[in-house]
Amino acid sequence: MDAISEIVAIENIGKLVSGDINQPILEADTILIRDGKIAEIGWKGEIDVEAAKTRVDAMGLVVTPGFIDPHTHMVIGDWTPIQKAIGWMEGALLAGVTTMISQGENNIGGLPMDPAGNKALAILAAKTYKKYRPGGALKVHGGALMLVEGLTEQDFKEMAEAGVWLIAEIGGCGLYKPKDVVPMVKWARKYGFKVSAHLGPVSIPLSAPLMADEIIEINPDLAVHVNGGSTSVPFAEVKKLVDDADFHLEAVFNGNPRAAVEMVDYMRKKDALDRLVIGSDTPTGNGMIPVAILRMVVQIASLNRLPAAEVIAAATGNTADTFGLNVGKIEVGREADIIILDRPAGSQGRDALEAIEIGDIPGTTLIMVDGQIVALRGRDTRQTAGCVKINGVERKVTTMEDYLWGPWKFAIDRLI
Ligand SMILES: [Zn+2]
Repeated sequence: MDAISEIVAIENIGKLVSGDINQPILEADTILIRDGKIAEIGWKGEIDVEAAKTRVDAMGLVVTPGFIDPHTHMVIGDWTPIQKAIGWMEGALLAGVTTMISQGENNIGGLPMDPAGNKALAILAAKTYKKYRPGGALKVHGGALMLVEGLTEQDFKEMAEAGVWLIAEIGGCGLYKPKDVVPMVKWARKYGFKVSAHLGPVSIPLSAPLMADEIIEINPDLAVHVNGGSTSVPFAEVKKLVDDADFHLEAVFNGNPRAAVEMVDYMRKKDALDRLVIGSDTPTGNGMIPVAILRMVVQIASLNRLPAAEVIAAATGNTADTFGLNVGKIEVGREADIIILDRPAGSQGRDALEAIEIGDIPGTTLIMVDGQIVALRGRDTRQTAGCVKINGVERKVTTMEDYLWGPWKFAIDRLI
């Protein structure tokens, strides 16, 4: 989907969540989008919205950047063989995930463990997901190379030229001992790769135990499933990563929920929440749910008693910072991947942020990618109390058919 060269306005925003943990809420009620990018942020009357072809009235609801899921295991298309999962990526898009990042295409039968096979798998994923957008809009960064014996510096150069820029979570499969992977990580960095490593005991037969000291030696950009994947490590290991390293630390939905509470509490004490990143680690045998990122936001905000806007930054801007992506924040020049959330019908929270803080899962009322409306809500995601207006027309879910079965896109083309 190409960015459209037209003007889109989002007006009457109730609360504007920035995705920037240093300033989680922006004082503004209007966003103007031009050519798929955020062009202006300000107050009604300050921004000229008259030229906008599409005017979204947020009706006082909460606007946030689209979520980024930094921990997924896609393989090809919107199909992952291990769970026979079809359409799971589109499902996540409809629940507000507008960008997905691969941690390795290892959920395939007959996973190759040689350099040629692994390079082929990563290149195939990087190239196909560059063009293929699940649900017509989801931005997928596929093609995460697994480190295996025999890879040379030339391989990393070749891979970078082919569009591969991710190293799959070290410890997930393949080589993991610092003595084997540190030289490869050095080559990877030279060619612009981002590197992840997993903390924890073994999870699947091909995975390997990696503890804090080894991860610190590897020095990745992101330590994944620090709250367990799904089995957690002794808490001293988590503390060590918080205290003795400065890379980002991921808490995942498919982890240990109690370890997540302890991890986030400790990061807050150490003023390190700008390093917190929220991921799903899906699809796995432990679960494959479209709202994993939203559920994790709710879990952390409610159980750690943190402001929802700060936790949303850990699912948006912090992740964009980790991987150097121009999404994840409401900021002039960023790609306009934006969602509008509302409290679920019947919630005691007065808006989506309050609902999250008391543990209620909000619903989406609009999902936008590159300034284009791609959906109003997910399949059977929570029915919201309010709704948006598009070009003056209220778009409310009224019937059971609309709510459960769709059309979830409400024939968007005819709306604007
Ligand atoms: Zn994983």
